[in-house]
Amino acid sequence: MDIPDALWRQTAPDALPAERLSGARHCDVAVIGGGFTGLRAALELAEAGTDVAVFEAGDVGFGASGRSGGQVNPMLPVARPDDLRRAVGKTYFERMAQTALGSADDLFDFIRKYQIQCDARQHGWVRADHCATARKVARRNADLWNAFGAGFEFLDGEEVTRLTGAYGYRTATVSPRGGAVQPMSLVRGLDRVARAAGAKIYSFAPVRSMQRRDGAWHLDVAGMPVTAKTVIVATNGYSDGLVKGLKGSVLPLFSTQIATEPLTEEQIGPVLRGGHTISDTRRLIMYARREPGNQMVFGGMGYRRPGGGIGGFSWILKDAPETFPSLRGVEWRYRWGGRVALTEDRVPHLHEPQPGLIAGLGYNGRGVAMSHVMGRVMAERALGTPAEDLPFPVTKIAPYRFRTPQVLGAGLAMAFLRMRDQREWRSVG
Ligand SMILES: Cc1cc2nc3c(=O)[nH]c(=O)nc-3n(C[C@H](O)[C@H](O)[C@H](O)COP(=O)(O)OP(=O)(O)OC[C@H]3O[C@@H](n4cnc5c(N)ncnc54)[C@H](O)[C@@H]3O)c2cc1C
Repeated sequence: MDIPDALWRQTAPDALPAERLSGARHCDVAVIGGGFTGLRAALELAEAGTDVAVFEAGDVGFGASGRSGGQVNPMLPVARPDDLRRAVGKTYFERMAQTALGSADDLFDFIRKYQIQCDARQHGWVRADHCATARKVARRNADLWNAFGAGFEFLDGEEVTRLTGAYGYRTATVSPRGGAVQPMSLVRGLDRVARAAGAKIYSFAPVRSMQRRDGAWHLDVAGMPVTAKTVIVATNGYSDGLVKGLKGSVLPLFSTQIATEPLTEEQIGPVLRGGHTISDTRRLIMYARREPGNQMVFGGMGYRRPGGGIGGFSWILKDAPETFPSLRGVEWRYRWGGRVALTEDRVPHLHEPQPGLIAGLGYNGRGVAMSHVMGRVMAERALGTPAEDLPFPVTKIAPYRFRTPQVLGAGLAMAFLRMRDQREWRSVG
């Protein structure tokens, strides 16, 4: 079977022509990484009158941003408020909780303000419970977050199937603030507005090294020298060895997706008719959405195969028609995957390892909205906002414990977790 690139590249508006770096240059702020985080930071900086340049190793949106599921989920994947309090401390707890809970509304406001054409829709996010224990935990946690204004609602009985067309779930939590965007359209739209504001966005411009000398940063960008007063690192799951310890501070997991060509009304049937997005409570999460042209997108978790390539597609190819029986027999024409960056405490991290060097990453698979928050916050910091006034604490870069065995053993571990998930899921009846 032909394996094309992510569906989003086929359905997004064309990218602006890529700008290439053609010689030495200086800028006030150099941003490394041309995804949501880096481009949002660049936009904020350009609007503040800063001379800012983004350097992206591939083309704009090459990383997770252009491959994402595009679900805009207004929550950190931190189970309970106390877990967040423990991770960030008392001072930052309330700020961070409110920032995360408001992140979806913020993103939709931002998209409206800049009139970015990215099929943005805020019809709600359904998180379906795959078993009775998951239901109990999800309800307790949603009640705890509701005390902070999360606004979760609950679905029971036939409601989950009626609203989503999904089988195998009896209960769910709904977040009306959740929604979806076409992620590549959003990233290309951001590129457009950032350039219009004066940011320089260079594609195919890998930053190979950087050092601080004489009070400035000296970068080697595809063999060309670039100097900057400040560097923002926005490389998330694609982080390399540029900043000491950064790559090892997150666990890179893979997320996988499959999508159909446009389906007939009969084929797509009752699936997500109301425009909700759906995910579930399994350890290897499933997530799905229905596109305006009746294309179905279904996602899950995968792993890097020892010989290269991404494994785990067989799981979602099996799960998709089981979850949505009306999709039995449809062809899943597109398949792709990308890297998600997990942090040990499941909270995004902001670092400042050296003067004038700011890095933000670790969205734990919930980065569509939170990466925009992080990009904005890193821009504020670069513009001089005191660290103690930010919504994120500035933390030390710390190694993700037992990272190497977890990376090497991901396939095996996932197969085991999937077995447990499936046993519990079947028990729903
Ligand atoms: C398949 C998949 C599905 C997902 N689904 C969802 C979802 O539904 N909802 C949700 O909230 N989140 C989702 N996520 C997570 C979300 O997409 C990410 O958290 C978010 O896009 C991160 O944005 P970013 O800009 O920080 O990083 P990225 O978009 O990954 O950008 C980092 C960029 O840095 C560049 N780079 C790295 N090193 C260098 C270098 N040395 N020089 C120059 N450039 C460099 C890379 O090329 C890359 O383009 C998903 C992720 C994946 C992979």
